[in-house]
Amino acid sequence: MVRGGLLLRWIVVTGALAIAAGCAREAERAAAPPARPALLLVTLDTTRADALAPEADAAVTPGFAALAARGLRFRQAYATAPATLPSHSSMMTGLTPAGHGVRENGRRLSDRIPVVAERLRQLGYGTAAFVSGYPLERQFGLARGFERYDDEFERGKVERSSRETTDRALAWLASTDSRPRFLWVHYYDPHEPYAPPEPFRSRFPGNPYQGEVAAMDEQLGRLLAAFEASRGGREVRIIVAADHGEGRGDHGEMLHGNLLYQGVMRVPLVLAGDGIAPGTRSDPVSLRQIHATLLGWAGERADGGLLAPADGPVLGEAMQPFLNYRWQPQVMAVAGRHKLILSGRLELYDVVDDPREERDLAKTVVPDRGLLRAVAGYPLPGQSGDAPPTAPASEEERRRLASLGYLVSGETPKAVPAGAPRAADMTPLFADLDAASLDFADERYASAARAFERILARDPGNLMTAVRLAVCQSLLGRDRAALSAFDLAAHIDPGSVEVRHYLGMHYLKGGQDELAAPHFEAVLKAQPDRLAAIEGLAKIRARQGRLAEAAALLEGSVPLARDTGSRLVEVGLLRMELGETGPAIAALERARDSQGPAFRRDLELGVLYLATRRLDDARSALDRVPPDHPAAAMALFKRAQVSVLLREPDSRARIRTAWEHADPATRRLIADERLFAGMVP
Ligand SMILES: [Zn+2]
Repeated sequence: MVRGGLLLRWIVVTGALAIAAGCAREAERAAAPPARPALLLVTLDTTRADALAPEADAAVTPGFAALAARGLRFRQAYATAPATLPSHSSMMTGLTPAGHGVRENGRRLSDRIPVVAERLRQLGYGTAAFVSGYPLERQFGLARGFERYDDEFERGKVERSSRETTDRALAWLASTDSRPRFLWVHYYDPHEPYAPPEPFRSRFPGNPYQGEVAAMDEQLGRLLAAFEASRGGREVRIIVAADHGEGRGDHGEMLHGNLLYQGVMRVPLVLAGDGIAPGTRSDPVSLRQIHATLLGWAGERADGGLLAPADGPVLGEAMQPFLNYRWQPQVMAVAGRHKLILSGRLELYDVVDDPREERDLAKTVVPDRGLLRAVAGYPLPGQSGDAPPTAPASEEERRRLASLGYLVSGETPKAVPAGAPRAADMTPLFADLDAASLDFADERYASAARAFERILARDPGNLMTAVRLAVCQSLLGRDRAALSAFDLAAHIDPGSVEVRHYLGMHYLKGGQDELAAPHFEAVLKAQPDRLAAIEGLAKIRARQGRLAEAAALLEGSVPLARDTGSRLVEVGLLRMELGETGPAIAALERARDSQGPAFRRDLELGVLYLATRRLDDARSALDRVPPDHPAAAMALFKRAQVSVLLREPDSRARIRTAWEHADPATRRLIADERLFAGMVP
């Protein structure tokens, strides 16, 4: 009876479980997330719309031509800025540069601003990004939300080829994953210097830029085919766009970043995939709409996607000349066929009838009021609406960006200087500015200094040029010339943080600590995260014997330091010197965690543990000191002390070993050690 009852209950319970499981499966089916499509975003750096088919010959870029033929192509798509990081930040956030705050390369997108990859990951996407150029390395803030963010370039390189990037992306696509995928691939080949691989070098002998585009297009074709093949029964959606174009001489601009004309701002853009009808659209759209488009495809409610009708004028900006040279800020707005540029004065173009923008209509045609309001109301850097300020670029980041032709200002002017020139009127200076920037990055300081002097002769209010001239002279050891260039820079902008920072560096280099310190203090008041200023001031304080201040400064810089482990070691040793045993142990323990097997401070740590009578910790730390350590004899001595205190049976043998390996100074310590009384050989 009992058994029967148990069995019955068992049957009833398991039956009920089976039924419950069935209901759960039913409910799961009902609430199952919609089958989300696989998403691919490809961004082509520095690629003009007319460098790709069908605007260029289809034979030149067959990969893009095939995609455009089966997709929806936008003939009037605009970048939000002619610079890599600001433009990509707009695609990833849906915001203008005024909204996300990244107005130039070398800044960092604030962690407070949501990015599309984060949301897609929350929705169950497997996410990966493969980028090819230094301006998009992870420290600049776009890696958030990507389970894999591949920005590994060969040592010392600032870019990698589309072939290498594609190889890596294809390997990721070949891995198994039942989740839908979001893949972002960024190609950098067309960015100057133009050096296409064979056979493209020979195929485009007089036009290496087009050769780079063609080489990239071949990889785009490979990537698209592999992505389609990895769909695993899912629908796919694809976006291919350039982040900005290249001047190629239009309006006097060879590269990009300084002006707002069509060659750099109008970009190729195609959507393709399941459910997207082939066609072309001629109304203006913005690359920042990519954000909402991706979210919409993933099943999110998102306004403002590219498939929705246009919502207000398309906005763009070019702030690098304002931030760096103190020239006029530049803002543009496009609606229909009209493009309005505000930079000191207004320019108006009919970009449909006059795509080369040769006829400025501002004097004859009254611009649409919506366009006027858009450019006049667009927030300048430093005005409200700007995202939170972010840490300025480090010296190393500046050097690397300069090697790509990008200047980084590192500060935001409070206002437009009276009489500031318009970038469009300064084009004769562009070549010198580009060349000087490269010379500077490659450490050809004498040649850079000559170019900076030529620029200043024609543009005496050019702040960054004055600062860079001063830095060149300082690095060349020309003290008086350096100080006079610093004077000029301080005269251009008395409040400039850059001037004070580099003046501090100049005095530090010359060992004039008393002169350098107040400059670094002023810099850190304005930019508390400026690592080089923290390190400079810490060095000065240590030299002045103000070790506690040096330690506090370095401790504060741990999260900013490139090499956290080494910085923690520095802090630990300073604390040790100060006799602060607890904080010294804490810093060295963190360094050990951070450095793993590369940690080399077990002797110091063992000594500190011993001092606090943490004998077991001391023993393990001292046992880790390698026999080839320069102070191995000291380690043996300390280990023998620990051994005696722990009453280990082999303490006597340890003392003997320590004695045998000791130099005369350590032998004296051993002989005098009271713990060893009667045990010294
Ligand atoms: Zn770019």
